[in-house]
Amino acid sequence: MTTPVYQNFIHGQFVPNQSKETFAVKNPATDEVIYHVEVADESIQEKAIASAREGFAAWSAMAPIERSRILNKAVYLLRERNDELAKIEVLDTGKPIQEADCVDIQTGADVIEYFAGLAPTQVGTQQPVGNDFFYTRKEPLGICAGIGAWNYPLQIACWKSGPALAAGNTLIFKPSEETPLGAIKLAEIFIEAGMPEGVFNVVQGAAEVGQWLTTHPEIEKVSFTGEVGTGKKVMQSAASNLKDVTMELGGKSPLIVFDDADITEAVSAAMLGNFYTQGEICTNCTRVYVHKSVYTQFIKELKARTEANIIAGDPLDPNVNLGALISKKHQGLVLDYIEKGKAEGATLLTGGHALSPESAPNGYFVAPTIFTDCTDDMTIVKEEIFGPVMSVLVFEDEADVITRANNTELGLGAGVFSQNIQRAHRVIHQLKAGICWINSYGNSPAEMPVGGYKQSGIGRENGIETLNSYTQTKSVYVGMSQIESPF
Ligand code: NAD
Repeated sequence: MTTPVYQNFIHGQFVPNQSKETFAVKNPATDEVIYHVEVADESIQEKAIASAREGFAAWSAMAPIERSRILNKAVYLLRERNDELAKIEVLDTGKPIQEADCVDIQTGADVIEYFAGLAPTQVGTQQPVGNDFFYTRKEPLGICAGIGAWNYPLQIACWKSGPALAAGNTLIFKPSEETPLGAIKLAEIFIEAGMPEGVFNVVQGAAEVGQWLTTHPEIEKVSFTGEVGTGKKVMQSAASNLKDVTMELGGKSPLIVFDDADITEAVSAAMLGNFYTQGEICTNCTRVYVHKSVYTQFIKELKARTEANIIAGDPLDPNVNLGALISKKHQGLVLDYIEKGKAEGATLLTGGHALSPESAPNGYFVAPTIFTDCTDDMTIVKEEIFGPVMSVLVFEDEADVITRANNTELGLGAGVFSQNIQRAHRVIHQLKAGICWINSYGNSPAEMPVGGYKQSGIGRENGIETLNSYTQTKSVYVGMSQIESPF
């Protein structure tokens, strides 16, 4: 059977490359190639820039409210096509349809809708200086680039295009080479919604295409989502012409469960924050610190619910709630971490192996895995695994657990479970992380800024401040009196 071949999407249409180079995309749940994609070669790269330049002239000249109207039309189309788009995400990522059909497209559309609403609210200032005065204008940056990870492909494309386009920029987006289709669908929707050609182009490929975006002198900003190590390389290349950067990177986030917590709720949060999207979420609370006095109760409920309620299998089956990992290679990495956990002395409470469910026997599944008796120096406690592997640790003292939770170079998320409101806020305020939850975990509404402390990132996505990060301020001084000149 022949599989489709997708070309790069430039200036409102699919454009063939000259090199004829393609790459294959596999369905992680079946290990089968589902389509091929043409790599953005030099000819595509040149066209993408020329198109974005033209797109910028048209888009930045529009009144913000006109841009809003077009973005809102795209939001409507995204929601109307939710089921079709959710299925694309399931086939590309291996995640369960029961997640994709109510989270991925919805939360992507929410963010575009949020920034569409904010676009016409951007105002400058005016201030007198003696008889003279000055005013400021919020101007777009120009051509921006977005580089995405594979865990939430369409959502990431929406989270980057929403604020960038609302502020009047154009965006050249490169999805992950593991999951290239969602961004193409978004590009088609933008065109259908009436967006001028060249405002949102999609280029395809792996690291080399990403590197090209991060070094091109006409690109003013790079918004990157991916691993810390890649983020550092992107920043280094972006320094070539001092591009602005937003970095959404990895995490190793703590969840602290105090002795007065609602244990059933805390177990729900720990399971959501480790097993949702088969553990492939950057904010996951992979270090779960449980107070000694509730430890036995917590572990008992955690083990029982993990063993009884998780259903791995064909991700298109709506009953399945644990999908396949993104690739065979990634499955191998996650299994290697599990072996390290065992070798370094952690106790395996449940899981710890690959799975081959009857409905998807060739998929890259890993059983939901929980380690107890973990210590802070173990590899599984220190490094991001990006799979369904939870490490549980015991604590007794509040100050001590805060120190331990902060003892990492990462700082993306953090959570606290306690019914004592003063303690909950007091502890959260001391945790060095950008996205924090009290008696909850993982929610990320469009209105709430998200981003990392320390090596988990730079800048924020979502929330009002993100729109500002896609603009620059121009100050205009106006002389009303005669110039005083010694010459
Ligand atoms: P990755 O760093 O391997 O790849 C991310 C993207 O960068 C891909 O599109 C890839 O092709 C591109 N790329 C690779 N090398 C490049 C280079 N030298 N220059 C420019 N681009 C390059 O990450 P991944 O494996 O796709 O995603 C998983 C990681 O993403 C995890 O660490 C996870 O925590 C992180 N993540 C973070 C967030 C967040 O919001 N903080 C969200 C999702 C994922």
